Amino acid sequence: MSASRLDRYAVIGHPVAHSRSPFIHTAFAAATGQQLIYDRIDAAPERFEVTVREFFAKGGKGLNVTVPHKEAAAVLAGTLTHRAQIAGAVNTLWQSADGKLVGDNTDGVGLINDLTRNLDVALSGSRILIIGAGGAARGILGPLLEQHPSRMVITNRTPERASGLAALFPATDRLTALPLEALEGHCFDLVLNATSASLSGALPPLPRTLIGPTTIAYDLAYAKGETVFTRFAMDHGARAAYMGLGMLVEQAAEAFSIWRGVRPKTADVLKALVAAS
Ligand code: NAP
Repeated sequence: MSASRLDRYAVIGHPVAHSRSPFIHTAFAAATGQQLIYDRIDAAPERFEVTVREFFAKGGKGLNVTVPHKEAAAVLAGTLTHRAQIAGAVNTLWQSADGKLVGDNTDGVGLINDLTRNLDVALSGSRILIIGAGGAARGILGPLLEQHPSRMVITNRTPERASGLAALFPATDRLTALPLEALEGHCFDLVLNATSASLSGALPPLPRTLIGPTTIAYDLAYAKGETVFTRFAMDHGARAAYMGLGMLVEQAAEAFSIWRGVRPKTADVLKALVAAS
């Protein structure tokens, strides 16, 4: 089939050059015998809406949405899945048969699948800290709560955004928002960095007490070898520190199966991605 006739997908973000989504979806397509092409689209925030509309008007089949557009994508989508509605953030877009833009959020299920299936991290009964209150944090908060942690704390550089997210879940007393400076003396089983600080080599001001010998640290961001956050965690005696490549592959698998109706296997793609990183 000529490239111009293949179904078109892309990841849209700003910046987006670092995205591994084209590698992952191309590998899924090869493994499942699907014919498609998958690109990167760099769109500044003021060009986001027009770029999305143009993509679908020209016959594009689906978009993954990354930093910093996830909340804007939730506003743009005419229909939201239940989990995207709860998250108020969208990372997967497609058009329904009647031409409506549909938004979903596969970040939460991607993270849970990576933690529980790939990394064997127990979530039930654990004490979890989420650092960050942007689109990614919105996507993972509800799915993490569904895993029945004993306690969850959300913190953020701008504390009001963390309190705003905690307020979305009034029915639980297991979730609280704390400012970064109030974390001194607290320790967690799982510390998740859901800020974009690692992308610029920055580390939020975190007390070392967060990390104990049984703590697992997980940076949703990923980099060659380590991030400043995974280095911080290992330097302070964490049991293990992981980056978000597994989550990336798992959230992509969920998006791929929504778009194509076929669920790809993830283990080989994750192995190839780690080897290429
Ligand atoms: P976003 O909506 O732009 O939110 C950014 C968050 O990071 C906000 O909470 C912001 O705090 C905080 N932040 C930014 N710079 C900071 C700094 N220097 N110090 C402290 N906090 C800082 O981005 P997002 O979509 O949530 O993405 C967050 C991260 O998750 C990115 O690294 C992204 O690549 C990663 N991610 C990975 C996956 C995966 O599959 N592995 C999926 C989704 C996201 P303020 O509110 O104070 O601005």
